Amino acid sequence: MRYAVLGTGTVGRTIAAKLASVGHEVVIGTRDPKATLVRTEPDGYGNPPFAQWLADHEQIRPESFADAAAWGETVVNTTSGAVSLQALEAAGAANLAGKVLIDIANPLDFSQGMPPSLNPVNTDSLGEQIQRAFPEARVVKTLNTMNSQIMVEPSRVAGEHTVFVSGDDAGAKQAVTDLLVSFGWPESNVLDLGDISTARGTEMLLPIWLRLWGALGHADFNFHIAGA
Ligand code: NAP
Repeated sequence: MRYAVLGTGTVGRTIAAKLASVGHEVVIGTRDPKATLVRTEPDGYGNPPFAQWLADHEQIRPESFADAAAWGETVVNTTSGAVSLQALEAAGAANLAGKVLIDIANPLDFSQGMPPSLNPVNTDSLGEQIQRAFPEARVVKTLNTMNSQIMVEPSRVAGEHTVFVSGDDAGAKQAVTDLLVSFGWPESNVLDLGDISTARGTEMLLPIWLRLWGALGHADFNFHIAGA
């Protein structure tokens, strides 16, 4: 399968590398590939420059958001949640039409400082905004409720723990569930919450996730829905 991962941050790199390691063809999308490749400074989270990461992942090709989305059979949104709609607009509605669009982004709003708030929240979600903006895409919200390392290596957390999926298209959710299983998730731990409006709930887990991160002092934890 050809995957286009839109986003060059921690999550994009982690998901792209995992997809390649389980045998998929992968491109990684960025606003301006040339500009991204010449960056020499660590990013805002201290990650090494993208070119350094790419040198260790030669099978992964950087492309513009549009070229990546046009090439991919499945598209993954790992862009900053505050700008995901802009990034997907740049990817192009025609390049997303009919495709499974896996949305991992969280709409964190840092404009009022730390901790971030959510925008949208309560009566809307980024997942829904994306589905409304790109009605022909088959949006599935998933993996946004945990640290990126756990997304691709669930065994980092001992015992049973849960990954949620939200989306309007049952076939798309099954395809994403199969992908999660290939990442190491037991199918019994994939919890289908229902339509894309259920993304409100998973995005609204972020405030408690962030506080747990602070309280525990590490990110190797996840939610477990007992009795599911
Ligand atoms: P990030 O720093 O939030 O986002 C990086 C990406 O956003 C880059 O590809 C960047 O494009 C793009 N971007 C930035 N400004 C843009 C703009 N104005 N227009 C279009 N694109 C723009 O990366 P991250 O930390 O990997 O997080 C990715 C997403 O996953 C976020 O929504 C985050 O909330 C969510 N998430 C993160 C984690 C985690 O463990 N970090 C866990 C769960 C969910 P360029 O490539 O061109 O620079």
